[in-house]
Amino acid sequence: MIKLHDKHFKPFISSKEIDNVMQRLADEIAEDVGEEIPVFVGILNGSFMVVSDFVKKFKKPCEVTFIKLASYEGVKSTEDIQRLIGLTQDLTGRTVIILEDIIDTGNTLGEVHRIFKNENVKSLKIATLFYKPEAYKKDFKLHYIGIEIPNKFIVGYGLDYDGLGRNLPEVYQIKETQHMTNLVLFGPPGAGKGTQANFLKEKYNLVHISTGDVFRFNIKNETALGMLAKSFMDKGELVPDQVTIDMLNAEVEKNSDANGFIFDGFPRTNAQADSLDRLMDSKDSQINAMIALEVDDEILVKRLLERGKTSGRKDDADESIIRNRITEYYNKTAILKDYYTAQDKYFGVDGVGSIEDITVRLSKVIDNL
Ligand code: AMP
Repeated sequence: MIKLHDKHFKPFISSKEIDNVMQRLADEIAEDVGEEIPVFVGILNGSFMVVSDFVKKFKKPCEVTFIKLASYEGVKSTEDIQRLIGLTQDLTGRTVIILEDIIDTGNTLGEVHRIFKNENVKSLKIATLFYKPEAYKKDFKLHYIGIEIPNKFIVGYGLDYDGLGRNLPEVYQIKETQHMTNLVLFGPPGAGKGTQANFLKEKYNLVHISTGDVFRFNIKNETALGMLAKSFMDKGELVPDQVTIDMLNAEVEKNSDANGFIFDGFPRTNAQADSLDRLMDSKDSQINAMIALEVDDEILVKRLLERGKTSGRKDDADESIIRNRITEYYNKTAILKDYYTAQDKYFGVDGVGSIEDITVRLSKVIDNL
C-alpha cells in the first residue's frame, strides 16, 4: 500500500500487465494504419507515459505531438475542461490517433472532438489505456481500449492525485476507508444467534445475513441452489463450501451500501473464514469481531426440540438430526474460535439467560470494539 497526500492506495495493475496491454494496442494500431504515417496525439499531462511507451512499441514510422488539457480537481473529474496548449501543427488530411491514459466521464474527449472539428483530418481515432465504462457518459466511439476498470480513482503510470504518483511504474487504486462494523455471530445451533441478530441489526443498523435462512428461502422457492442445499440440510450436514461461499458473496453484494453486516451461521469452516476475509478485504473492510454465544449441549437439544414444535424445520424435529448438527459444529465449526482468537477478535458471551440479558451482554462487547 502507498500513501499520497491524505489518501491510501493499493496495488491494482502491475507494470508487466500494462506492458502487455501496450504491446497489444501498438500491434493492433500498426496493423490498422497500413501504409499511412499516423500522427499520435497525447493529451497532457497524464498521457506522457502512455505515449512514450506506446511509440517505442510501434514499429512503423509515425509522428507524435501533444495537446494539453486540464480536467481534474483532486479525485473528481470536472465538467470544465481547460485548453492549455492546443494543436501546434496543420493536420489536414492526416490519420490522427489520440492516445489517452484514461477515459472516464468522457468530458476531455468532448473537448478533443471540438479541437479537431475544423481540422479536416482524414480520420480521428481514440485509443486509451484505461476505460471506466460505469463513468462514461458520452457517445464518442472508443476505437482501441486497453483495460476496462471499475469506477474508482487510480494513480500511477502518468496518472496523479494532486500532482503526486505520476512516476509510479504500476497503477494503484484508492483505498476507501470504510467505517463498517462487521460481526460474526457464532455458536452452536440453538444458541440464539438468529434471535439476537434481530435485535442487534436494529440497534446498530446492520444487515443480518443468515446463511441458514437464505438456504431455507431457496428451498421454499425451489431454486437450483435450494434443491442442492436441501439434501445436506435435511441430514444436519454442512452444505459444501463453494456453494455456501458463492451464495454469501452474492448476498453481501446485494447490500453494497450497508453500514456493516451480522454474519449468522457463516463462516462455519476455515475455508469459509478465509473467503470472508478476502471478501471484506475487497471492500477495504474487515471482520471486527466474532461474538460467540456459549450454551451447554443439553440445553441446546431441549431448545431446538421446543422450537421444532412450531418452526416447521425438519432439522429441528428429530433429536438425532439435532445431535448431528451439534456434532458437525464441534467437528468443523468450533475450530474457528482459534482462527479469530489468533487475530484477537474472539469474544465469548454466556448464552444462557433471558433474551434481554443476552442482548445487553452482546451490546457491551460491540460498544467496546
Ligand atoms: P442454521 O439455520 O444456521 O442452523 O443452518 C441450517 C443448515 O443450513 C445447516 O445445518 C447447514 O446444512 C446449512 N448451512 C447454513 N449455513 C451454512 C454454512 N455456512 N456452511 C454450510 N452449511 C450451512
